[in-house]
Amino acid sequence: MPRYGSVEIGGTKTSCVVGSSPDDLSKLLTISTTEPVETLGNVIDYLRAESPDAVGIAAFGPLDLVDGRVGVTPKEGWSGADLVGPLRASIEVPTGLDTDVNGAALGESRWGAAQGLRTFVYVTVGTGIGGGAIVNGETVHGLGHPEMGHISVRRHPEDTYPGICRLHGDCLEGLASGPAIGARFAVPGEALSGADLTTAVEIEAFYLAQMMRNLVYILAPERVLVGGGVSGLPGLLDLVNRRLVGELSGYPGFPEHDSGFVVPPGLGYMSGLAGGMVLAERALDQAT
Ligand code: ZN
Repeated sequence: MPRYGSVEIGGTKTSCVVGSSPDDLSKLLTISTTEPVETLGNVIDYLRAESPDAVGIAAFGPLDLVDGRVGVTPKEGWSGADLVGPLRASIEVPTGLDTDVNGAALGESRWGAAQGLRTFVYVTVGTGIGGGAIVNGETVHGLGHPEMGHISVRRHPEDTYPGICRLHGDCLEGLASGPAIGARFAVPGEALSGADLTTAVEIEAFYLAQMMRNLVYILAPERVLVGGGVSGLPGLLDLVNRRLVGELSGYPGFPEHDSGFVVPPGLGYMSGLAGGMVLAERALDQAT
């Protein structure tokens, strides 16, 4: 059975495992995402010792998926960084790359909460907001990849916070990401309690339900998975489900939208790494 190397490169930490499935994995390597040469060097050392048959990388974006590079990013030193080249050159196995959210979607499709679904979306709400769509069994790519966190939403009537997105101000990510909650309430979301927590969950659900409505109407997904640190706010996903019912006003009228449409990932923090294994498998299939 082939052994797949999986690398998940996040804005703050990078993780790496090798194995044939999430039940059969080497010891997890987790390091800080510093600058590209050092970070990828540590990943390469780890993978060399484990000698996988192929490698899949799920990375923070934006990504240039044609050249295997990071696009223009505020993360210092990473704009234009070559993610695929150094691994291919030193490990010499087929190597695949996709966004962290597309990776997570692939992992959830194979082993998690989206098994058996043909069309669904994986959304993460944390430091940023992003989404990976699988449509008819394939991740969506076009001119680049989707950037679902930057859609526009209408404001909550009581929300006067201007928004934190460096590009758009009050896009979805600008209003509903973890840093937006932290700035609005002057404490991190996980430190909120009492009336502030109730208000934060209400505002968050108001914005996320609009995203779900847009996803329902644009992609007709069978389900939406929502992960990331903010998704763990108590009661949030239940409230998003309830607010979505209001957003849809009974149209198009599928009972699936009424409850349990928005669910947490089945693999928890392993979604992205599991997806890296699927990307590695695909790279190996394409090479043979
Ligand atoms: Zn934005």
